[in-house]
Amino acid sequence: MSKPFIKIDGISFEYTINNQKTVPVLQNVTFDVHPGEYVAIIGHNGSGKSTLSKHFNGILTPQLGDIFVDGLNTRDGGLLREIRQKVGMVFQHPDNQIVSTIVEDDVAFGLENIGVPASEMKARIDFALEAVGMSAFRNRPPHHLSGGQKQRVAIAGILAMKPDCIVLDEATSMLDTYGRRDILDVVRKLNNDGMTIITVTHHMSEVAEASRVIVIEKGQIVLDGAPREIFQQHELLHQLQLDVPVASQLARLIHKYDNEYEADLIHNNEIV
Ligand code: ADP
Repeated sequence: MSKPFIKIDGISFEYTINNQKTVPVLQNVTFDVHPGEYVAIIGHNGSGKSTLSKHFNGILTPQLGDIFVDGLNTRDGGLLREIRQKVGMVFQHPDNQIVSTIVEDDVAFGLENIGVPASEMKARIDFALEAVGMSAFRNRPPHHLSGGQKQRVAIAGILAMKPDCIVLDEATSMLDTYGRRDILDVVRKLNNDGMTIITVTHHMSEVAEASRVIVIEKGQIVLDGAPREIFQQHELLHQLQLDVPVASQLARLIHKYDNEYEADLIHNNEIV
């Protein structure tokens, strides 16, 4: 198997509030993400998904354990710039990620910060806007765009940095169905072209895109496998109160349906 692109090695993390109270969130989490994987992270609200995703490019560092991005330890502040060029993050609110009054300036922002020469900048902006289907909007003010278009501009800003991996933390949760589809199409294409994708999501249509699903509960990984394997664990999903009917729809959606599993679900009146 290929060398891991991200190695999460026994990490534990707690928040400290007012220098006193601690909130333990992640407990001894270990897994590898390999180049080109498409990983969906799911779990209840408060289970630690967002906290985990902030570790992938060193926004947070664990109290215990280590994270390596392409072999670089996120604990090393001197490596953070390089790490953040390799792993781009897209968050929930596109408005918080847009900083300029013209789309192309917004995409250029990160490039200016890392000192990309003007001669190369245009080519990178062209490439990034093309990749997200926003070339026609390059001179528009971002605040005139729809939520899905803004999120595509935010992704273009990251793509311009030529990352190896994009982490989407509930990046479509503020979008309507069309906006979500827009982003899914872009992300699917990026993954087909070889980019590593990690997505934190509540939407089963997004989970269906992934090649691997990680289920987090109370800061620990409770399931990790291909979507079909995960959603065949319906006893455990029940215990976790993750939605089995949705899971069965998902299994259909991804054309990996198992007749035995379907019979079982029908028997239990779980197919809606
Ligand atoms: P999820 O993404 O699965 O909803 P989070 O990682 O956002 O979970 O949160 C996990 C736990 O950490 C929750 O109990 C949440 O209240 C707590 N938490 C998140 N951010 C902070 C913070 N900045 N300070 C203190 N506690 C936090």
